[in-house]
Amino acid sequence: MLVYAYGFPRLGKEREYKKTLEAFWDKKINEKQLIDNLKKIESERLSIYQNYVDLYPEGEITLYDSILDLGFMFNIYRDFSIENYYNLARGENALPMKKFFNTNYHYIKIEISQEDDIKFSWDKYEFFGIKDPKILYIIGPYTLLKLSKINGNEEIILDKLIKAYSQLFEKYKNTIFHIEEPAFVLEYSKDEMNKILNTYKKLENYWDRINLITYYESIDHPELIENIEVNAWGFDFIRGIKNLDIISSINPKSKIIAGVIDSRSVFPKNGEFINKVLYEIKNKVNNEIIISSAGGLFLLPITTKVEKNEYIKNNLRFAIEKLEELNFLKNLEINPSNFSLEKETFEIPEKTRESYEERLKAQSYLNLPLFPTTTIGSFPQTPEVRSMRLKYRKGEISKEEYDKFIKKEIEKTIRFQEELGLDVLVHGEFERTDMVEFFAEKLDGILTTKKGWVISYGSRVYRPPIIIGNIKRIEPMTINEIVYAQSLTKKPVKGMLTGPITIIAWSYVNPEYPIEKIAYEIASALQEEVQDYIRNGIKIIQIDEPAFREMTPIKKRDWDRYFNWAIKAFKLASYAPKEIQIHTHMCYSEFGDIIDKIDALDADVISIETTKSKGELIEAFEKYNYKRQIGLGVYDIHSPKTPKVEDIIEIVERALRIIPKENFWINPDCGLKTRKWEEVKPSLENMMKAAYIIRKKYS
Ligand code: GLN
Ligand code: ZN
Repeated sequence: MLVYAYGFPRLGKEREYKKTLEAFWDKKINEKQLIDNLKKIESERLSIYQNYVDLYPEGEITLYDSILDLGFMFNIYRDFSIENYYNLARGENALPMKKFFNTNYHYIKIEISQEDDIKFSWDKYEFFGIKDPKILYIIGPYTLLKLSKINGNEEIILDKLIKAYSQLFEKYKNTIFHIEEPAFVLEYSKDEMNKILNTYKKLENYWDRINLITYYESIDHPELIENIEVNAWGFDFIRGIKNLDIISSINPKSKIIAGVIDSRSVFPKNGEFINKVLYEIKNKVNNEIIISSAGGLFLLPITTKVEKNEYIKNNLRFAIEKLEELNFLKNLEINPSNFSLEKETFEIPEKTRESYEERLKAQSYLNLPLFPTTTIGSFPQTPEVRSMRLKYRKGEISKEEYDKFIKKEIEKTIRFQEELGLDVLVHGEFERTDMVEFFAEKLDGILTTKKGWVISYGSRVYRPPIIIGNIKRIEPMTINEIVYAQSLTKKPVKGMLTGPITIIAWSYVNPEYPIEKIAYEIASALQEEVQDYIRNGIKIIQIDEPAFREMTPIKKRDWDRYFNWAIKAFKLASYAPKEIQIHTHMCYSEFGDIIDKIDALDADVISIETTKSKGELIEAFEKYNYKRQIGLGVYDIHSPKTPKVEDIIEIVERALRIIPKENFWINPDCGLKTRKWEEVKPSLENMMKAAYIIRKKYS
C-alpha cells in the first residue's frame, strides 16, 4: 500500500521559520534573504517527506498563512508584493484572525466581494520556485468560501472562484491537486450539499487530477462522495469514524485516502484499531486504499528525538514519528479483527452549590460597591520578568532570589491597584509563562516539552502540554503567591486558576482515556487548590475558561456529550461554600447560542470580551434572562491605545439597557500581560474615571 502525508510543520527543528520571518520584520534580512531562507526551509521539509512516504503535496510553504495566500493568488487582493502581503497579515491593515475549525491554528480571514475581479493571478508556487510538481497543495473553493467574509451573493462568488481554480488547474496540466475541503464535514442542509455538488460538477474536467481531502469529522452526505468521482477521496477515520458507514453505503469509485494516523495527537494509534479500520474499508470498497494521516501534521511539534523526557522519547510521536508510523504501515498485512471501535465512557459526579440567590445574600459581606471594578488577572510580563524567569530556569539565580523578585512584583501590583481604587484585586500572574503550561508543569500526569513548539499563527508558537492521565496535584500550585498578595491588602484578592476545559483544549490528550475521566481528574486537582484558598482566607476565586466555546464539537449532535462533561468538570473544580464568590473569564467567543450553557456553569460572575463584537453579545443577552453578575470587557486590551472615558461609558450604558445595574462589573476585556505598564496605567485610570461617573449617575 502507498502512504501519503501532508501538512508537515513548516516551523523547522530550530524554529527556523519563525526566526526568518521575525528577522525580516525587524529588517535584519532583506526580501531576497527571506525568500532564500524560506526555500531552504521548504526543501528540508520536502526531503523529510521523501524519507518516509510515497506521496505528499508541494506548495504548502507560505509567507504567513495559506488562506491569505489564496487572497493574492486569486486577485481578491491585487498586486502581490511581500510588503502588501505582510500589511494584510500583520500590519496597519491587518485582517482578522480566526481559529481554523476546532484547532488552535489561527488563519487569516479574508474578505471576498461579489464585485471582485477574481482570477488566477499570483502564482505562489512559481514564486517559491516549485518546478514540475507531481502533487500541489491548495485549500478548496468551498472551504475558502466558508472561511471568508462574504460581501454579496455566495453563488456568484463561488462561480468566480471556480473559474479561478480552473485557470490554475489549466496552468499545471500534469499535476495532481491535493485539495483540502474540511468544510465538507460541517453540518449543513441538502441545499447546501447541492451547492457543493454543483461547484464540483463545474470542475469535472479536472476530477482525474484531484485528491479531495476532508478531515476533523465525518461527512454526513454519501451523495457527495457518490457524485464527485475524483481521483481520490481523503477521509479522517480518527475523528470521523462514521465515515466507515458512509463509504460502505455507496462503494465509491474513487481511491480512498484513509486517514488512520492521528494528526492531532502525540499518542500512537493502537495497531489493532488501524488494522480494523483498514480491514473494514477493504471489505466494503473495491478501490485502491492509500494510507495517510487524518489531517495535516502541522498541529504537531517536529520530533520527540530532541526531548529530554524519556517517556516522550520512547512512547510519543510528533510529526516525524508520525511519518515513521506511516512508513511502517506500508508493509502492513491486514487481518480480520474483532477489535471494538466502541470507546469506554465515564460519568463525572455532579456537584452543585446552594442556589445563586442564596449565594448572593451570603456574599453581601464582601461589601462591593455598585459597578465593582476589577481586572482579568495578568499584569505586564515585562522583559525583566521574562529574563528573571529564564535565569531561574537556567539555574543562574536561586529559588529564593526568584521568589523574592516575584514577591516584589506582586507588591508593586497590589499597591498600583489600590492607588487606582480597584475593588477586587489580582496578584498579576508574574510567576506564570502561560496559563496552561504553568499548571501542566505542576500537575502529575501532564508532561511539558522542551522543544515541542507548534505554530498558532504567523510566527507565533506555543508548546502544548501532553496529558497522559492519572492526573494528581502533588502540592499547592498557586497558594503562596495568592496568599502573599492577600496579606498585603484589605481588599479581596482573587485566587486565579485555569479551568479543566481550557487545560484540555490547549493540550494533547491521551485518546485511550475517556475525556470525561481526564476532565474529572483535572477538576479534582483544581478543587483541592480551591479548598486550600478557602482555608487560607481567600474569598473570591476566578477559574478561567477561555476555551469553553472553542471546544464545542463540529457537529451540533455531539454538543450534549461535550457540555455534559465540561459543565460538570467546571462545577466540580469550582465547588465552594456559598460565601465564596466564583468568577470565570471567557475571552471573546461567539456566545450567542450557548448562553444557557454559560449559565449552567453556575459561576457567580462571568467576564467576557465585548469591545470587538460590539452589540452582538448584548443582543444575545437580550434574548436570555441571565440573572448572574457579568463583567463585559469595557475596553480592548489588544490595542495599545488608551480608551477614552466617554467610550467606556458608552459601552457600559449600552449594556445597561439589557443587564441590570446590580449585576454589572467593570473590567478590561482580557488579561494585561501583553501590554506595557505605560499603557496599562492610563487605560485603567480612564476605566476607573468612567466607573466613578457611572456609579454616581446610577446610585
Ligand atoms: N487570567 C488570565 C490573564 O489575565 C486570562 C487569560 C485569557 O483569558 N486568555 O492573563
Ligand atoms: Zn481573556
